[in-house]
Amino acid sequence: MMKHYPEQTAVHIALVGAGPGPLELLTLRALRRIEAAEVVVYDRLVGAEILAIIPVGAARFDVGKRCGEPSPSQQEINALLLALARTGKRVVRLKGGDPLIFGRGGEEALYLAHHGFRAELVPGITAALGCAASTAIPLTHRGLARSVTLVTGHLQGEESFNGWRTLVGEGQTLVCYMGLEQAGKIEAGLLGAGADGALPVALIVAGCSEHERVIRCRLGGLARAAEALRGATPVLIILGEVVALRDELDQLLTGLESRVA
Ligand code: SAH
Repeated sequence: MMKHYPEQTAVHIALVGAGPGPLELLTLRALRRIEAAEVVVYDRLVGAEILAIIPVGAARFDVGKRCGEPSPSQQEINALLLALARTGKRVVRLKGGDPLIFGRGGEEALYLAHHGFRAELVPGITAALGCAASTAIPLTHRGLARSVTLVTGHLQGEESFNGWRTLVGEGQTLVCYMGLEQAGKIEAGLLGAGADGALPVALIVAGCSEHERVIRCRLGGLARAAEALRGATPVLIILGEVVALRDELDQLLTGLESRVA
């Protein structure tokens, strides 16, 4: 068979995106790297279907962060990756979504590079793209949204964050990772920067999985909606006029189905 992707030869460590959960949303390159792995270091967000394809003989390191339990620090993870890279084994560092989108893949690649190791970067479908497709929310749409911003809701140490103004405005879609606990601050910040309280918002819980849930609200009700979801994980927040397209699609399709039935 013709191969259209590079063989893993000299590279022994790969930072691999596992996508948003289902096996079908893994790239072929990621699949090849996992299947060839001798060691896999993985995070909490990596889907069970994907963990299931790790070769039986491969060593596994779970470095996921779990509430209440001590989890390895980033420094400890870096040190582990370096030690594993030095063994010369085929190491896969597996991360949910894309390794370079709020995944600290850049930090790990830099750390390894400082120690003389070039990590291969294998992209994955990031939560924003997976969840958008799964919930039928077009992130861009002619006439409605001409830009998309991916932002982290983690604002610790950034209480004085004053960039809200750059995040709101006509024709912009905002996708907020790790935003559930900061929903009150996000709502207040955006409203304070002039955003419309009626802006459509979707909170997507466990996107792309069989447990996926979508909660719809408006910016003015974001904090309240988030409060009702307290403890749910993982949650992605999409804000923008495009969220309303989901409702429109739904209505059209429901109408169609009732006519067919
Ligand atoms: N590297 C990952 C993001 C890690 S940050 C990626 O590219 O997707 C973790 C955050 O991602 C979560 O707090 C949540 O906001 C979001 N997230 C990841 N997977 C998700 C999913 N299946 N459904 C909803 N949100 C998800």
